[in-house]
Amino acid sequence: MAELLKGAAVAKAMTAELAERAEALKAKGTEPCLAILRVGENPSDISYETGALKRMEKVGVKVKQILLPADASKEAILDAVKGVNEDSSIHGLLMFRPLANKEAEAEACKLIDPAKDVDAMSQTSLASVFTGSGEGYAPCTAQSCMEILDYYKIPIQGKNAVVLGRSLVIGKPVSQMLLAKNATVTVCHSRSIGIPDICKNADIVIAAIGKAGFVTEDFLKPGQVIIDVGINVNAEGKLCGDVDFDAAEPVVDAITPVPGGVGNVTTAVLAKHVIEAAEKTL
Ligand code: NAP
Repeated sequence: MAELLKGAAVAKAMTAELAERAEALKAKGTEPCLAILRVGENPSDISYETGALKRMEKVGVKVKQILLPADASKEAILDAVKGVNEDSSIHGLLMFRPLANKEAEAEACKLIDPAKDVDAMSQTSLASVFTGSGEGYAPCTAQSCMEILDYYKIPIQGKNAVVLGRSLVIGKPVSQMLLAKNATVTVCHSRSIGIPDICKNADIVIAAIGKAGFVTEDFLKPGQVIIDVGINVNAEGKLCGDVDFDAAEPVVDAITPVPGGVGNVTTAVLAKHVIEAAEKTL
């Protein structure tokens, strides 16, 4: 039976530590504040926003919601980002993406003040993941994987880590973050050949491809730690990850459940970034 790497415990510990840091900031006259910019009424954005509002309240981060209609113009979206940049009482911006207006999204990502880019919209933030410069913030989901490994004291140095997926929000940044912790990292993608054998050689597998039950018994061996980032709906209409949990759980040493794993940690990481951004203004 594998150890279940539950996200709630990680988020709870982070929330307690962050709440103390929020108090310390307030004692120094700075109230940490996150702006949330949502364009339209996408249900998954609204659901994440609800979770983020609850988490910020628990940590003690103020939230300013900026809601624009689905047909908002590029100018209206960019004005909202400009407003956040210019408002010294706001320390971070979460802008839901993708936007229907691709041009507005690309310009907003260029416009955001990197100091307030708590969800890795800008090239500065992404570059800092690769250079380790500390100038920006990693994408929240990628960092959630690292927070889980850290909380459960999973050794990384010298381990073989296989990352399935190479997106800019998860696969690429998490591979760099593992590399920074001295893992030997292999990244697989849709053109990779022999993924099951590559995975079988891994100590740590991060699955982030978006295919229900992609990782089966053939990919796995005893001793492995599996972080399942995927959020999918299977043929029975049930929420599931990229890993066939029932096949993996009896074999591997530890695994994140879906739901209840990585997804539970992302708003705590968002809060952490806002607190860090506010601390940097002191
Ligand atoms: P994405 O942008 O669609 O990227 C998917 C990656 O998987 C791509 O690099 C793609 O390869 C690779 N891939 C697709 N099919 C593959 C296959 N058959 N074999 C090997 N690689 C394959 O997805 P994403 O945004 O990174 O998200 C990945 C998953 O994480 C999704 O299920 C998403 O819902 C979930 N997610 C979870 C959270 C959370 O909080 N838990 C947050 C965000 C996303 P190519 O580059 O070659 O196309």
